[in-house]
Amino acid sequence: MLPTIAILGRPNVGKSTLFNRLVGRKIAIVDDTPGVTRDRKEAETRIAGRAVRLLDTAGLEEAAPETIQGRMRASSEAAVREADLVLFIVDVRAGLTPSDRAFAEWLRRQTVPVVLVANKTEGRLGGYAAMEAYELGLGDPVAVSAEHGDGIGELHDAVREHLPEEPEERDDPERPLRLAIIGRPNAGKSTLLNALLGEERMITGPEPGLTRDSVAVEWTDPTGGKVRLVDTAGLRKRARIEQALEKMSTAASIAALKECEVAILVVDALQGMDEQDLRLARLAEREGRAVVLAFNKWDAVEDRAAARRRLDDVLTASLAQLRGLPVVPLSAQTGRGVERLMPAVREAYALWNRRIPTGELNRWFEAMLTRHQPPLADGRRIKLRYATMPKARPPTVAIFGTRAEQLPEDYRRYLVNGFREAFGMPGVPIRLNLRGTS
Ligand code: GDP
Ligand code: GDP
Repeated sequence: MLPTIAILGRPNVGKSTLFNRLVGRKIAIVDDTPGVTRDRKEAETRIAGRAVRLLDTAGLEEAAPETIQGRMRASSEAAVREADLVLFIVDVRAGLTPSDRAFAEWLRRQTVPVVLVANKTEGRLGGYAAMEAYELGLGDPVAVSAEHGDGIGELHDAVREHLPEEPEERDDPERPLRLAIIGRPNAGKSTLLNALLGEERMITGPEPGLTRDSVAVEWTDPTGGKVRLVDTAGLRKRARIEQALEKMSTAASIAALKECEVAILVVDALQGMDEQDLRLARLAEREGRAVVLAFNKWDAVEDRAAARRRLDDVLTASLAQLRGLPVVPLSAQTGRGVERLMPAVREAYALWNRRIPTGELNRWFEAMLTRHQPPLADGRRIKLRYATMPKARPPTVAIFGTRAEQLPEDYRRYLVNGFREAFGMPGVPIRLNLRGTS
């Protein structure tokens, strides 16, 4: 499914002209499915390097009921329901009309992202005339001339801001999942790696661009997927000088974290989760990686209930940013429980990659705003308008609105935790980008 962009605006502002300009050819594809809206133009094109579906709502006005506003409302509602982004066009030559204002007012109450486009700005005073559009409260207008092609590059840039990133190579089943195994010295990383590899051990040659003695390990896990262990340096500790061990393994973990998609944090269950383990977990979170905790040496733990309780207490108290982190108790040495590790890794990976469609995201967002209004900042209301998910890996939610960047910490947490719960993303780092619009 391509991201959908709808072009809206009252009649004659230049919607069709802009549509043709963006599609890059004069004839727009006409979709005249019988019984559905007639005269609806849509085309697939590329904007800002992204494949998108573009909808032109020009002409729909005539098909709908009575008043101008009623007509625009009906056609626009249909388009807005489908759109991931709206280009709202005004005509600076005609100046803002009551129709434009009513339309803008309505759009501001919708939860769809809007890029405001001031059209017909060619000529000496055009850019100046575009300033009037600020009054609409839809952010900075992008000044263009659809007819002459001015400002189209800027329009691409503005659109790029709001489009989700192109899905990556992750859909390629041949591409291995990049895994890091991190943890303190003696937590059991090497033992675990051997248990995971089983008979499938395969050491491949030096990685291009990496140091000569850095080898990559690749294997196929029982879930059937390929796995590549990134940066094994931290695992080959036998070659290291004892006293430097601790430092090095942290450094190696950091390097591995930058390369990986999912990190297995190996924790020695006999010792419990300590400050150093927490530091590694926080590093993984900061790097935006999905994390699975392997609670190792389970075979040697006497009071398992107590060990598990202590772990949960530490995680709750000290690792809120990875709430719900999956924990797999296992014994790397005996192999018990190891079979549950890769399925947990795959699941964390899937969540980490997950993208929520704009419509669904905004239904959630509206419910969150209704339950708790954003607080005041310096005595003024913070008005949040809509959310988008510009990227996954890790899941990133962008929130747009007036003074959004002033949103206090506890409200940010409320949104992040709400998102995690609503979309079932335990243990996944979640990024919140706040974008203030004027
Ligand atoms: P729509 O009803 O919103 O689809 O508007 P159209 O695309 O049909 O354009 C309405 C009129 O505005 C046409 O006469 C266009 O030639 C004209 N127009 C469109 N873009 C521009 C522009 O950038 N500058 C000027 N001067 N006229 C434009
Ligand atoms: P690394 O430094 O993290 O790579 O840890 P190693 O894999 O070298 O293991 C450190 C020590 O813990 C070794 O003596 C292992 O035999 C021991 N060990 C590793 N996994 C287990 C386990 O599941 N149970 C027990 N009882 N000992 C383990």
